[in-house]
Amino acid sequence: MEFEKDIEKLNIEFLKDKPLKDFTTFKIGGMARYIVFPKTAAELGEVIKLARKNQMDWKVLGNFSNVLVSEKGFDGVIITTVRMDFYKIDQNVIEAECGCMISQVAKKACENNLKGLEFAAGIPGTVGGAVYMNAGAYDGEIKDVFEFAEVLDENLNVVKLEKADMRFSYRHSRLKEEKLILLKATFRLQYAQKGDVLPIEKANEFNRRRREKQPLLYPSAGSIFKRPAGYFAGKLIEDAGLKGYRIGNACISEKHAGFIVNLGGASAEDVRKLIFHAQKTVYEKFGVLLEPEVEFIGEFETPLFEPDSKC
Ligand SMILES: Cc1cc2nc3c(=O)[nH]c(=O)nc-3n(C[C@H](O)[C@H](O)[C@H](O)COP(=O)(O)OP(=O)(O)OC[C@H]3O[C@@H](n4cnc5c(N)ncnc54)[C@H](O)[C@@H]3O)c2cc1C
Repeated sequence: MEFEKDIEKLNIEFLKDKPLKDFTTFKIGGMARYIVFPKTAAELGEVIKLARKNQMDWKVLGNFSNVLVSEKGFDGVIITTVRMDFYKIDQNVIEAECGCMISQVAKKACENNLKGLEFAAGIPGTVGGAVYMNAGAYDGEIKDVFEFAEVLDENLNVVKLEKADMRFSYRHSRLKEEKLILLKATFRLQYAQKGDVLPIEKANEFNRRRREKQPLLYPSAGSIFKRPAGYFAGKLIEDAGLKGYRIGNACISEKHAGFIVNLGGASAEDVRKLIFHAQKTVYEKFGVLLEPEVEFIGEFETPLFEPDSKC
């Protein structure tokens, strides 16, 4: 196969015909033809060029923590950024490559007495994934600390984007609108002042709350739905009587109804059916349409619920 030979020539690490369930935090997902691990922005660009040259689909992922991959998998090239993981702290400014774990960056910031990223200490994704979806928790969001970023545009040019260019909103950024790949981001934090709770203590407290409230012992992709304006998805699902509701081995968590958990061997289709059921039930009871926060990769038989659907 041409693609494989080219990648080997460039000496870029890759795997062939591997199940994506070994990579996703959901522990669900079919085979990927290739999973490639570039170490630099230049390598990442080369992989995309080769995928295009060989007319193969490609998709950039970070830590696979916000995706549901179908059983049919992905017949193309999954490019994961996790080897692009250099970061540096200069006074109160942090520059981090896309594949750094945002939780690690947050922890380092806290250890340096910097505040602003404590909310991210328990988010199991990369800097790229976190900026892409303007990740947030506990009243903090990436956009609060983001200063600028380098991205790769569709023509594989490196472009600098300032915060004002990013069109951040709730779980949204410009990276979702255009096929832009985040290479590295710069965050500006604040020094903790005398009298402030120590950043590391704040981060530890947030993580304690997560352990208390979230079903972290089961594989999942975190909150399955976005927060609908004026409501909490988990509360609506719970009030609809769906806590513990199960299809196959996918289950609406007893601990936090905003999470769907994999009890062991759940299929992607079970999760999709559960998403549909939760959407339909909540819509019929409360008139609120829940929108998935998790992203779908591959083909699914079960559709998402639409208010006028007859299913
Ligand atoms: C237990 C648990 C708790 C969670 N808690 C939270 C939370 O509190 N708040 C929250 O917001 N999320 C939370 N999440 C969801 C998830 O961790 C975040 O959305 C995270 O930011 C996703 O990062 P990732 O690297 O895993 O992205 P992936 O799942 O790998 O990818 C998700 C999307 O990001 C895109 N992407 C990834 N890297 C790049 C890049 N370099 N450039 C452009 N696009 C890119 C991908 O193309 C894909 O569309 C949680 C998940 C779990 C499992």
